[in-house]
Amino acid sequence: MRSTLTIALAGNPNSGKTTLFNTLTGSRQHVGNYPGITVDTREGFVEYNKRMLTIVDLPGTYSLSAYSPEEIVARNLLIQKRPQVVVDVVDATNLERNLYLGVQLLELGLPMIIALNMMDEAEKKGLRIDADLLSQKFGAEVVKTVGRTGKGKLDLLQKCCVLADEAGGASRPFFISYGPDLDPVIDEMAARIEETSFLTRWYPARWVALKYLEYDEEVMAQGKKEGTISEELQSMVKKVSDHCEKTLNTEPEAIIADYRYGFISSVLKTGVVNREGTSNRRAVSEVLDRFLTHRYAGPVLMFMIIYALFQVTFGLGEIPLGWVEGFFGWLGETCRALIPQGLLRSLLVSGIIDGVGGVLSFVPLIVIMFFGLAFLEDSGYMARVAYMLDRVLRTFGLHGSSVMPFVISGGIPGGCAVPGCMATRALRSPKEKLATLLTAPFLSCGAKVPVFLLLAGAFFPKAAAEVLFWITLLGWAAALVVARLLRSTLIKGPPTPFVMELPPYRMPTLKGLCIHTWERAWQYIKKAGTIILAISILLWAAMTFPGLSEERKALYQDRIDAVQQELEGAEEPGIRDRLAAEMTRIRNERKTVELKQSLAGRMGTYFESVTSWAGFDWRTNIALIGGFAAKEVIVSTLGTSYSLGSVDSEAAGSLSDRLAADPDFTRVTGLSLMVFVLLYAPCFVTVVAIARESSWKWALFSVVFNTVFAFSLAVAVFQVGQLM
Ligand code: GDP
Ligand code: MG
Repeated sequence: MRSTLTIALAGNPNSGKTTLFNTLTGSRQHVGNYPGITVDTREGFVEYNKRMLTIVDLPGTYSLSAYSPEEIVARNLLIQKRPQVVVDVVDATNLERNLYLGVQLLELGLPMIIALNMMDEAEKKGLRIDADLLSQKFGAEVVKTVGRTGKGKLDLLQKCCVLADEAGGASRPFFISYGPDLDPVIDEMAARIEETSFLTRWYPARWVALKYLEYDEEVMAQGKKEGTISEELQSMVKKVSDHCEKTLNTEPEAIIADYRYGFISSVLKTGVVNREGTSNRRAVSEVLDRFLTHRYAGPVLMFMIIYALFQVTFGLGEIPLGWVEGFFGWLGETCRALIPQGLLRSLLVSGIIDGVGGVLSFVPLIVIMFFGLAFLEDSGYMARVAYMLDRVLRTFGLHGSSVMPFVISGGIPGGCAVPGCMATRALRSPKEKLATLLTAPFLSCGAKVPVFLLLAGAFFPKAAAEVLFWITLLGWAAALVVARLLRSTLIKGPPTPFVMELPPYRMPTLKGLCIHTWERAWQYIKKAGTIILAISILLWAAMTFPGLSEERKALYQDRIDAVQQELEGAEEPGIRDRLAAEMTRIRNERKTVELKQSLAGRMGTYFESVTSWAGFDWRTNIALIGGFAAKEVIVSTLGTSYSLGSVDSEAAGSLSDRLAADPDFTRVTGLSLMVFVLLYAPCFVTVVAIARESSWKWALFSVVFNTVFAFSLAVAVFQVGQLM
């Protein structure tokens, strides 16, 4: 044996110290307790290169302040045992936090080697660590190790021996700057400490100064016993503390921690850590984020991007929308020409083609909007939207993680509240989850969008995009205000903290975009072909039966026949025109009475006395009742009822033309209806989803509460609108 060496293993808890210790020492170890405190430290032995090495496994610590028994034990062992080498065992997958201890070990003036442990994990995560660069920046040797397999252990022992021989227990000086406020004071204190050899038997002068600034009780107690300049140092500290308090509203201890972390992150940023293949992308992302998630510019840009999405959707969508509408118009006419008048024709034309066709006409718009959304999602921008809105959500008693349920539910129009409700599972706090669950259905889901498109197209043809934009905002406002309301009444409770990772931006692939767009569009089309088809037929039946009594039918037939006879006799064109108009009026009246007499018509009429406050007539009521099954049904039902209720459906054109032509249906009615549709009871499937995530009590609550809330707002809109 040439000599003996003591090597201490320091590191954060779970960095793999004990594992490394075991592979180094095998069975040659014993556990010791530091006197007075039950924090165990192990000692073991290993023979290397004809040397006997004593290895000490220190308790795991994050720092060398004197906050916990582990920290005190680790520090005192380092001071008293004076190991020739300290190995800082760091978890390579979490360098930033782990190196905090390393900085302090160097400041304590110990010869240090960094063991980059868990290298297997780091490689699995695609982290590439430049050990040479790290070594250069820290002024310490770096060895890559895997504790579990013992990989790197001989290299580690060899470097320890070399360092011990070179340094002989003293380290290279290591200084980091603590900024303009503290640096001069530290220098001044260190100079005084040096002059008087105050505590320098144990610690470097700068370290003592730092410990005084951190109000380290252990060191200060030790200093008090020593006497001499302890009080002088304390008064220096007091002065700079007061200054920091006044100017920065913080204390030296916090500044010291900030600068240590700042030093580490600046070292890591020089290229010590790279994510495989992504380093470039990360850098680009950072540049983009400086702009896209900027405190002020970010939200403005976000609104502009969403607004642009609407403009593009409407601008581009208008053309194919016309084609699809034209196609269903042609299909209806063909059926009319081929099938004789009667129930079958009525079912096919009014029930199925007008109903489902009304819903399918919006497929082109929806495809374009979904394509835009897929782009925002795939590019990584959507995560930024969530990140930016996080700050806002907190003020409304919600959680950062509420963003995703909201966005999925239709925070950007086109979502669906059913997956939105499922996404609330990410919320840990039951209260925040409930608040999110109950308010997510206010947003404009993909099923409400066609209703808005229809009404905006009919009453605000020049400003359809703007209308949809404002409706979207209204959905958000309602969700947030109601959330705040619920969180300060029915579901009170404190907020929980939140951390979110931003993925790097990436250029979406065309294929990926098409797949995402198609998935959603297909869901919509499938729904039109199944649920909506079924409900359309059901509602058509409810709107057709029981029909007029034979008596009334005869009465109308007589009137029609009478006019017909007059028409045949008349020759003057003026009179003929008048008679033809009379004929149309009678036929329309008959159709309308027929619809009103129907099952659905009676229900709609029954509610009319109340709903007329918001401007809804019985026809709208029918649609709204159907809308509870699925919101798209509102469009198909209006389509059917306007088709059944008018005799000249051939000539009437698209549903939005018909609505615009109806004298009882004004712009104000359109607005009030949009507000109601946006906010009233969630559709049946969503109600089930809410019940599954919370309870039937809350699901029922959302049906009643939302409907009352929506109706109050719709009445307000209608009444104020009437006045203007
Ligand atoms: P200590 O708290 O620093 O003593 O950490 P331990 O030695 O108890 O290790 C914590 C966990 O990390 C254990 O499950 C080890 O098996 C595991 N571990 C230690 N070193 C490595 C390593 O290099 N790679 C991997 N994948 N796991 C490791
Ligand atoms: Mg351990």
